[in-house]
Amino acid sequence: MTHRIAFVGLGNMGGPMAANLVRAGHTVTGYDLVPEALDRAAGHGVRIAATAAEAAADAEVVLTMLPSGRHVLETYRELVTAKRDALFVDCSTIAVGDARVAADLARSAGHRAVDAPVSGGVPGAEAASLTFMVGADDTDFAAVEPVLTAMGRKVVHCGASGAGQAAKICNNLILGISMIAVSEAFVLGESLGLGHQALYDVASTASGQCWALTSNCPVPGPVPASPANRDYAAGFAAALMAKDLGLAADAATAHAVPVELASRAAELYSDFAAGEGAGLDFSAIITTLREKHA
Ligand code: NAD
Repeated sequence: MTHRIAFVGLGNMGGPMAANLVRAGHTVTGYDLVPEALDRAAGHGVRIAATAAEAAADAEVVLTMLPSGRHVLETYRELVTAKRDALFVDCSTIAVGDARVAADLARSAGHRAVDAPVSGGVPGAEAASLTFMVGADDTDFAAVEPVLTAMGRKVVHCGASGAGQAAKICNNLILGISMIAVSEAFVLGESLGLGHQALYDVASTASGQCWALTSNCPVPGPVPASPANRDYAAGFAAALMAKDLGLAADAATAHAVPVELASRAAELYSDFAAGEGAGLDFSAIITTLREKHA
């Protein structure tokens, strides 16, 4: 079944996601603040609207892929005029609290609402192989699943509103900390005269095994596809990891959960992303650990 879909936020992720919806036969009307993003989307068959409200005017599904909670809430306030019962689907990574406020805003205007943040990055968006983590009631999940399947390979129903965002920040808490753990192990190994490949061969088949090691290895060599082999070109930008760990640390503070490692990791990525790590993959955090050691 195909739908009339509004897509607001046609950036690095939203652009290819909208293109995949067009490929699946949906009628997609897009809006972005940046003219270049609109031109790229038009090249993939996305109809272009002059405002977000115009894009959503006739839509059955209203998708957003925006930088932060502030952008999502502003856009939702503008879109309350959408058709009654439209299904609002926010795929951005935002705070759990903001996701719940956004869902309430949409519902109180007579719409349905789902949070569906993603994992898989730009390559996953381009290849329609994203993982979606969905916060929704059962009826809305059943409605959104076929739409998300056009853009991803796995769609997980995590619970009610906000549960998708909760899963996203908890997953990235694991990832952010484990990348630092893997990096510290390589830096310690270097000073002990242990070769990168030797440590990789042991840890990748022993209890140190994790995605940060075997898919996104922070040293060049053992995993040829990892960003370390191309001067840490992102990949998953350090700034996005800093954002996600910041959301995790804020959520932990709000719920009085002691997350000492996540808080420290958030500081490390945030400092790195604000300085020499700007634009680099998050695995480049290993370079700052080496500098501290030198
Ligand atoms: P991006 O900056 O490339 O795209 C965001 C787009 O939103 C931009 O084109 C911007 O012009 C547009 N925008 C901002 N405010 C707007 C408004 N009011 N109306 C219309 N358009 C507006 O960012 P991205 O990399 O595509 O990320 C989008 C979201 O996905 C973020 O929440 C990010 O955390 C999340 N995410 C990104 C990745 C990744 O690898 N890039 C992976 C997983 C999740």
